[in-house]
Parts: sequence; C-alpha cells; structure tokens
Amino acid sequence: MAREPGTTDLPVSPARQDIASLDQAGLAAALAALGQPAYRARQVLAWLYGRLAPSFDEMTDLPASLRQGLADRFDLTHPVVLDVQRASDGTRKYLWELPDGVSVESVGIPLGDRLTVCYSTQAGCAMGCTFCATGRGGFARNLLPGEMAWQVALVARDFGTRASNAVAMGQGEPFLNYEATLGGLRFLNAPDGQAIGARHLTVSTCGVIPGIRRFAAEPEQFTLAVSLHSAVQETRDRIMPGACKWPLRALKTALVDYTAGAGRRPTLEYALIAGQNDTHAEIAALVSFARGWLCHVNLIPVNPVPGTGTSRPDDRRIAEVASVLRNAGIEASVRVERGSDIDAACGQLSQRYRAGRG
Ligand code: SAH
Ligand code: SF4
Repeated sequence: MAREPGTTDLPVSPARQDIASLDQAGLAAALAALGQPAYRARQVLAWLYGRLAPSFDEMTDLPASLRQGLADRFDLTHPVVLDVQRASDGTRKYLWELPDGVSVESVGIPLGDRLTVCYSTQAGCAMGCTFCATGRGGFARNLLPGEMAWQVALVARDFGTRASNAVAMGQGEPFLNYEATLGGLRFLNAPDGQAIGARHLTVSTCGVIPGIRRFAAEPEQFTLAVSLHSAVQETRDRIMPGACKWPLRALKTALVDYTAGAGRRPTLEYALIAGQNDTHAEIAALVSFARGWLCHVNLIPVNPVPGTGTSRPDDRRIAEVASVLRNAGIEASVRVERGSDIDAACGQLSQRYRAGRG
C-alpha cells in the first residue's frame, strides 16, 4: 500500500497495531483504507485525543460497522496511572504504565488559570546526563505519538481543565524520536485534539543538531528549548556525555540559524550545579556563548537527585549569575521551583517507584 507523506515509520497494514502509533497522516490513511471520507479521521482524532474515548465503542457518532472495523484492526489502551504525588503548591506528578509494562512520567503544574503539562517522549533516556534521574536509569523505548498526547490529555482531565501549555521536558530526548514527537505535538495542537496553540508547545533537546535543523523548518510556531548546562566543551562532555557528538560550536551555529530561519527565540536551559558549572570561568563561557544573538537563558537551581553528588549553589550565587548575564545584555530568568516537596526532578518518581518495588 502507498504511504502518505508524513506518516509514522509504522505503515498502515492489515495486521493489528496500536492506534497510538499513528500520527494524523497515518490516521487519515487508515480511515481511507477502511473506505471512509476524510472527515472521519477528524472525528476519530477528536475522540482519541480530545475526548479521551476509552474504546472505539464509545465513538457514538461513527457507524457501528466502522467502530467494529477499527476495533478489528487497532488496539486502544490508555496509559494506566501507577502513582500520583501531590505537592503543596498544587503540582501533581504522575507515573503511568504503558500496555507493554514500561513506565513514564508526566507533571501537571497549575498557575492561576493556566495549566502546564510536562510530558515524556521516551521511556528512559540514552543520553546519560549525570545530574538527571532519567539519564541514570537508561533507555527503554521510544514513545508513540498518541502516548504523548494521552499523557497531556489525561493530566488535564485530572485537573478538570484544559492544558494551556505542554512541554516535552519529561523523560527522554525528543529529537531522538523526532517523527513521533512531531506527531504528538500535532495532536496537541489540533483543534479537534487538545487545541493548544503552537507557541504554547515547547520541545526541550539536549542539543541534537539534526533535530534542531528539522524543527526550524516545520511550518508551526512551536517553541524550542535547549539544555546547555555548560558552555565549556570539557565540562559539557562530562556532565552530558550523550550530547558530545554535537559540539558546542556547531550547536551555536545551528541555533543562530534557527533564530534566523524560524524568527523565534530559543531558551537555553542552564541547571546550576555548585562547583561544576557555576564558577567564574563557566559563567564567562556562558556569556560568550549567549551574547549577541536572539536567545533567553533560563537558570535552574539543580534539583539534587540522590546519588548524583550534585548540589545547588546558594541563592546569592544564583542571583549573581543572573545579573552577570543581564549586565552582558543577555535576557535571563531564574526558574521558580515547583513541586519541591515531591520528587519533582525528571525521572525521580519512577526511580523511587522502582526502588519501592525492590
Ligand atoms: N532530554 C531533553 C528533555 C527532557 S529533560 C533535554 O535534556 O532537554 C528536561 C529538562 O530538565 C532539561 O533541561 C534537563 O537538563 C533538566 N533536568 C534534568 N535533571 C535535572 C535536575 N536534576 N535538576 C534540574 N534540571 C534537570
Ligand atoms: Fe536525557 Fe534530558 Fe535527562 Fe539528559 S537531561 S539524560 S537528555 S532526559
């Protein structure tokens, strides 16, 4: 069967498959293969990622024969919640189990009438960043487009509201799962899905340059964040070993090109780790990396994951770093900490859950 342009790597075939593996083009092709008009794909999308239908049977405006045709061909299994932690500031962290038994995390962060959902793009991560709980746990598998959209939709439903923002900043490296990540973003952006504006959808990468270049060329105005964490090559190679194949100099070129091509300002994430990337020399390197082009530096006091030997600088040093950047003409902010009384750092909940289970 001919492949539609932009479908996921899994072709539509008569064999059973997980409906979550299809992106929008894949859904359209699947419905067309069942002899359906184009609007049926939008209806199914709305049921899956707008209304969270638990089965094809619930899709009451589809003909019974189509519901049966879909059920014959596709599995529809939502992530199951294994654990929820609620912080005193309203932040909630979820641990989900997927149909094959792997687990991933999402976080819901309410602020006024806004809800930001942080979701995972892979189960685990192969990048091995030393300060990151996910990086220490290794890689399990790529998530499917629908598994990303469902995390956001399920969290929003738990809060009884819609998500105003979603960030691919949970577990995993989104640009090492590029096609599915874009598929997930498009379900979240779709008016029949979660209807989150493209500018309110952010992808964070550890600096996968081919992904940054592709992302710049996408038609939507999605937002880009890059985990920099050090502008000294040697330090960055040590604390982000998986990112060393995309060196800083080439990363900066790709980011400057991104701002020129996409016309948008990326955020550079910088988790301040005492004694490692907060020294005078490190901050001088950060200034020279970030000065003179359109970026924003977000300083994050590192969340000290047990066993990583990391600690955060004191508040005075964090404020000093912010003012050094601002004095150099660089836009900088310090991230307000949320969910600090739960295991808020990336990957911490699943690590604790595994430990608890022995
Ligand atoms: N893999 C992608 C996206 C997921 S991580 C990336 O690295 O960008 C999301 C963000 O959380 C990244 O900026 C990451 O560096 C940061 N992070 C991971 N562990 C952290 C910790 N212990 N404290 C503070 N930030 C952390
Ligand atoms: Fe992976 Fe991002 Fe964690 Fe690094 S910080 S190990 S890239 S999830």
